[in-house]
Order: sequence, then structure tokens, then C-alpha cells
Amino acid sequence: MDLAHEQYEALEKSILAANPAADAERIRAAFEYADHHHGSQLRKSGEPYIIHPIAVAEIVNELELDQDSIIAALLHDCIEDTDSTHDDIARLFSPQIADLVEGVTKLTRMQYTSREDEQMENLRKMFMAMAKDVRVILIKLCDRLHNMRTLQYQSDKKQKEKALETMEVYAPIAHRLGMQKLKWELEDLALEYLDPVGYHDVKEELANITTIHAGFVENMQTHIEQRLSEEGVNCRVYGRLKHIYSIYRKMYTQSKTLNEIFDLYAFRVIVEDIPACYNVLGCVHDMFKPVLGRFKDYIGTPKPNGYQSLHTTVVGREGIPFEVQIRTWQMHQTAEYGVAAHWKYKEGMANQKLGTEREFEWVRKLLESQQDADPDEFVRTLRVDMFSDEVFVFTPNGDVKSLPAGATPIDFAYSIHSAVGNSMTGARVNGRIVTFETPLKNGDIVEIVTSKSARGPSRDWMKICKSNEARNKIRQWFKKERREENIATGRSMFESELKHLGLTLGAITASADLLDTLLKRVRFGSLDELYAAIGYGGLSAQKAAGRMREEMTRLGRLERQRAEHEAIQAAVSSGETVYPSSAKGTAPAPRHSVNGIIVEGLDNCMVKFSKCCTPVPGDPVVGFITKGYGVSIHRKDCPNADPARRKPEEAGRWVKVAWAQTGESTFRTSLEISAKDRDGLALDVAMALSAQKAKLNTLAARSQPDGYAIINLELFVQDQRELTGVINKLSQIPGVFLVRRAGG
Ligand code: MN
Repeated sequence: MDLAHEQYEALEKSILAANPAADAERIRAAFEYADHHHGSQLRKSGEPYIIHPIAVAEIVNELELDQDSIIAALLHDCIEDTDSTHDDIARLFSPQIADLVEGVTKLTRMQYTSREDEQMENLRKMFMAMAKDVRVILIKLCDRLHNMRTLQYQSDKKQKEKALETMEVYAPIAHRLGMQKLKWELEDLALEYLDPVGYHDVKEELANITTIHAGFVENMQTHIEQRLSEEGVNCRVYGRLKHIYSIYRKMYTQSKTLNEIFDLYAFRVIVEDIPACYNVLGCVHDMFKPVLGRFKDYIGTPKPNGYQSLHTTVVGREGIPFEVQIRTWQMHQTAEYGVAAHWKYKEGMANQKLGTEREFEWVRKLLESQQDADPDEFVRTLRVDMFSDEVFVFTPNGDVKSLPAGATPIDFAYSIHSAVGNSMTGARVNGRIVTFETPLKNGDIVEIVTSKSARGPSRDWMKICKSNEARNKIRQWFKKERREENIATGRSMFESELKHLGLTLGAITASADLLDTLLKRVRFGSLDELYAAIGYGGLSAQKAAGRMREEMTRLGRLERQRAEHEAIQAAVSSGETVYPSSAKGTAPAPRHSVNGIIVEGLDNCMVKFSKCCTPVPGDPVVGFITKGYGVSIHRKDCPNADPARRKPEEAGRWVKVAWAQTGESTFRTSLEISAKDRDGLALDVAMALSAQKAKLNTLAARSQPDGYAIINLELFVQDQRELTGVINKLSQIPGVFLVRRAGG
């Protein structure tokens, strides 16, 4: 039998030992398929290629992942390195297995170059986002582990690259998934190539020290075991030297000598349940002198990746300090194998309390989902999109950009610089020319083709792009670069909107006075200004035309009322009884107004505007007859006027009121602005108000502890429409996310 078959037989044996119910025939079929496809390919070591997938499957089996994962491990390089396809594997094995293999292939194709820390974090996120199924990550980690174990056959350059990648991407991911054992081995292997001198120094020094401490681990182990069994505690004690990288890091980052490092040795006491953990802790502190400030209770407060244990450092009789970790079997499984522990230890995760740090949220969900779920259900929950609202892509230099899900090359271009977006003439994704609408996928390498003679962005881009950043930058461009064009586009958009409303441009430009009034209503000095604003997208044509029609309707109504009033005057002087047409059922009959308010059934009464909701003309209002202070006017949507909250005994004191059509005086009202705090915010608010010609009474800005600011304003306006204009203007100030009226 050749080497490959020999190794396969050993693998099958250990698979069946771990899981007697495994389908040996199916697994063998995967081996034979991979063996056939890799054919005569050789590894750098000179061994047949198939040795590698078998070894990866072995590691996957050690993690006791499910059978699909083992089969996928055997097939994991087939799509990448042979003529086998996803469809072939789906047909011969299963679509699920084909997906796993394809997932691993995608991660294999990703290129990592060393980057800034912030970039690395994006890389790790992208790695996990691409995987979709956590088993893909686990298989890829096993693949990397075997490649690291056999790295000596690669070129110097390749060794350094792979080692760096392992240290910066793979080991942190293993850590995040709570897989300590795998992480330690990856780190030690990577260190050996990244800093061979440092690695061998630490290794040698450790060897020296352990010679001096000869027998320390064994003695201490027996010692602790004896004492605990005297106490009647059922437990296992393991002692070990800590892994090289953790000691290396402490020596170099804290510039300590080996003798100064407290926890060269770590002992683990594994017990049945949580009360036993604390019991053992008591015994250990009784046997040895605890080092002050080194006790940590990760059972009460687990680490974000789900890790639980009691940690303490004590000093043994020989004066050698060592760490003791105390945990239950179940905690031990989670500590060693992390999410993979699911397949090893399927019950009793219910009592885990896990960290809530956002970064680890999905791991927490993952671990939570392990409790009481049947395996199929669990696998399904592993497919949850971890970063579904983001997509991670590469620049040609290998920098990672995070964009909103569904982002296009346009978003990418503007995320680099507006100049790149504005001069974009084409885009390549993974080397192929694509259209601007193409949604980017995780791991894509995106390249923007620019030209000095580019015509600039097209208006359609604003609809295509997904990020506000791109949209704003495009809008800016139109505002600045294309005034003539904006005016022409704006005019035609505005005219077609008017037509919609049954108006013509001629109707609104009938007289200079009328046009002036209408333009004031939309706050523009000239029609060109209005067109330009519509053209670059600063104002919607619909809004502008709508407001003008409202204004014309209002002017028409005023005109009718004036005519009616004259008619009434004439009738009164001639002794006739007339009812004005505007006196509809709900509206009070016109009487004398006080402060611009007409109160039903009360003439010339005292009227004041409530402070809680500061109504202005145009707001639906209601009045309340106070004891001795006249009628207080509330907005109908003011909580204090809510019919549901009115006291029954005061029902008779609520009266109908209406605004008189005076249009003369101004009204005091209050606004509250919520915004991201920044320099110049209050100034921008004041400027916006003066641009709106709103009279400001008071302005009070308060910074909030969380980086936000609240600004309270008191201002005078003529009516609700003017107030709405002010609110719109304020809402456009950068950083402002909410403008609301007081009360209501
Ligand atoms: Mn591989």
C-alpha cells in the first residue's frame, strides 16, 4: 500500500473511533475522488498532493466536526487546483458539501498583504463575512495549520508571507472563535518564521529553566492531585509550560526577563461543576501563597469569546510562581475548541453568560445558538450573515474598503476621493471591465479607470450609488460645475411638475408682484436660482411647484374673503342678515380676533399662547378657558390638549378656536434641534435662521456627554408655513438629524 492509502486508512480508523456511525463509504469516495483529481500533483515536500487534504481532514476530525466537514476537507483543494467543479461535487456528494468546498476555495483565493491595524481588522471581518458558514472558517483554519506545519518546504519569501498572514489574520480569528489550542499552535509556528532568533532564544531559555526546574510540573501535579483527592474533589490536573509566543510577547512588549514572568507554567484543574471550582480555588490558596491582584473570575464574568475559568497565580514552595486555571469539563471544551466544541459537547451550554461587546456580538449569538439546538438547526443558524449590511473590497494596492451592502463601483470611487469619482470613465472588478451598476462582492479587487477629459458624473449615478457619501459628492459636483445645465434641467423639471398640478409657467409669471410673492414662498430671489437648485438636486421640483400652488390658492382665498368682507360690510350697513361662505360647520363664526385668534362664543377675551407647544398660524388649535387668565391656546397635537387626557370635569372649558386671517403679527414658537456636536454648529443654526429671515429670540445649546448637542430655539414666525420652511432649512445643516417643535 502506498503512503497516501496508508495515511487514509489511519484517518478512517480515527474517524470511526470518534464516530462509529460515520458513513465510511461516503468518506472513502471523497478520498478517492480527490486522489484521482489531484493525480500526480506533488507538494513542495515532494510528497503526493493528496497527503495534504488527508492531513487537513485529520485535523478537522480532531476537532470532531461533522461528517460533511470531513468530506469537504478531503475535497477542499479540488476546485482550486484541479478541473473539478462545484457542480461535480454537488452531484456526486451534496450541494452542502459543494458549498463548503467552494467557501474554502474563496478564502484560499483571497490575498492578504500586511497592512495597518485598522486594515487588518477589516480583513478579518471580510474573511468571516465571506465564509457565511462557520465550518468553512474552521476547515480553512485546519488547512492553514497543516500548511504552517509543513512550511519548511516553501521559499523564504513565501514563509514570511504565510507566517505574517497567520499571525495577523488566522490566529486572531481562531482566538475570536475561542479555539485556544489551534491559536497557540498557529502563533508558535508563525513566530518561528517571523523572528527565528527570538523564537529560538525563548525556546532555549525555556529549556534551560525547565532543566533547573526539573520535575517541577510533575511534582506539582501530583502534589495538587493528592491534596484535592484528600478533600474528596473528583478532578483532573494538567500542568504545562505556556506556549512560546505568549512568553515571547511578554518578554518583548514588557521587556521582562524570563525570571520576571510570573506565569511560565500553567496548571489546569478540571472538575465536575461550578461549586467544585470555587472549592478547588480555596484549597489552592490554602496550599500556596496567592500573588495579590492576580485572581480573575471568568466564571462570573466570561470573556467575550465565551471563555470561562477561574484564574489565580500562586507561588510554590520552590519560589516558582505558576498560574492555576480552574474550570468544569464543559468550560474546558469551550476553551480549547471554541465554536467547534459544539460538535464535541452538545448539551448544557444554557448557563453561559457571555459578553455583550458589539464586536463579538455574532460570536455570542453563535454560542448562544448552540444551546439546546439539534445539530441541523445549529448548522442553519451558522449561516446567519455576520456583516450583512457591509461589503468589504480591496483597492488595487490591497487596502480594504468597507462600503454599504450593494455598493457599486461609483460608491467605491467616491470613497477614495471625489476627484476619482468625478473623473471616472470605467471600472474593473477582479481585472474585468464591469458596468457602473455592478454590485460589489466581498473580496472583490476594484480598480477605477479615470480620465482627465471625463465628462463628470451623470445624474443617474445618484440613483445607482448606495452610500450617502457618494450621493452628496455627486450633488456637490452638479451644484458647482454645471450651473447653466442645472438651470436648463431644473426649468424643464419644474415646468413638467407645474403641468402635473394644472399650472403653466405663464400663470405664475403673470405679474412681477405675483412671481415675487411666489419666489419668496420657496425662498429664492429669482427663477434661475430656483431652477439651478432643482437642477442639482437641492430642491425637488415637486416640492417647489407644490408650494407655489398652495401660495396661489391662499392668495385666491384671501381675495375672495376680502370681497366677501366687503359684501358683509355693505349688507350690515343695509340691515340684511348674511352668512359668510367660509363659516363651515367646525369653524367658529368670525368675530373680533385677539392676538390673531377667534374664540368661539367669546368676544374680546384674553388670549395667550401656551408655552408647551407654542402654536403658530396654520397649526390646528384648540382653546382652554383658564381660571382668570383668559383662553390658553394649544396645538391640537399638544399632549396637554389630548382629548384622552382631558379631565372630565373640565370638558366644558375646552373651546373651539381659529386663526383670524390677519397675516400681520408674528408668533413666538420653540424648536429643539438634535445634532452631532461640532465646532460652529450654533453659528450655522443662527446663519440658517437669518437666511430664512426668521427672527430669533433665544438660542441655548447644550453639549451632551455622548458627543451630541441639543439646541433650543425661541423664534418669531408669521405662520406654520414659514415655520416649516425654517425647519427644513435647519434640517439641512450638516450634523443635524432631528428638528422638532416643542410639545406635540
Ligand atoms: Mn489546502
